[in-house]
Amino acid sequence: MILEVRDLHKSFGDLKVLKGINLTVEKGETIVIIGPSGGGKSTFLRCINHLEDYQKGEIIFLGKKVDKSENINELRTKIGMVFQHFNLFPHMSVLDNLILAPTKVLKMDKEKAIKKAKKLLERVGLLEKINYYPDNLSGGQKQRVAIARALMMDPVLMLFDEPTSALDPELVGEVLEVMKDLAKSGMTMIVVTHEIGFAREVADRIIFMDQGVIAEDGTPEEIFKNPKKQRTKEFLRHIL
Ligand code: ADP
Ligand code: MG
Repeated sequence: MILEVRDLHKSFGDLKVLKGINLTVEKGETIVIIGPSGGGKSTFLRCINHLEDYQKGEIIFLGKKVDKSENINELRTKIGMVFQHFNLFPHMSVLDNLILAPTKVLKMDKEKAIKKAKKLLERVGLLEKINYYPDNLSGGQKQRVAIARALMMDPVLMLFDEPTSALDPELVGEVLEVMKDLAKSGMTMIVVTHEIGFAREVADRIIFMDQGVIAEDGTPEEIFKNPKKQRTKEFLRHIL
């Protein structure tokens, strides 16, 4: 088991955003989260790596309860996150973006980090852009660099929050392709996306999140062909 979330509750002031989320994620699983805007998907991902605090519940990562002060930094080195907007450092080359965290946080030797960066850039098809600055890359390329950068830390869990929703349509495929390869290589992943083709092909489980709860949870087959709840049906009618 990689991750266990128990009865997670999160509010912003009076606004209850997560109302008792329970989820377990096993090694190698790819979980796709779908659901209407405002339903709490991003907040949930942000709670998992403690970018957000929460009021109630437990998050157990690799068998250890994550404690507010103690092991958050360690946790963040093991959970990679890719956001909708690329969050690359604009004043740094692709290479420097990749080697920054491993050399600073993990104290990895610079030569070793460079070697690893080259390998990962090759994996996402961008070795030839190693000395480019983010501004000179397309959105799809930036997102592939962001994935490679996250992989530099050898994460055991990758979180993706709508990684393709800010991209021009013709650039979506190249990013999904990299994510598919990653899933097939055995990475454990939680992906918020409305790319249904990707979800069908890659997800072990689909979670439909609505109004702060997991309204439905099943295989792609179950969720897409035979949703049980009315609100899942309605949502799918909009996106399929
Ligand atoms: P989703 O990703 O499913 O669209 P979010 O998790 O972004 O949903 O948002 C869930 C709810 O929480 C929304 O009503 C949103 O306005 C609110 N929310 C998100 N972040 C904050 C914040 N930092 N402060 C106050 N409200 C927030
Ligand atoms: Mg969101």
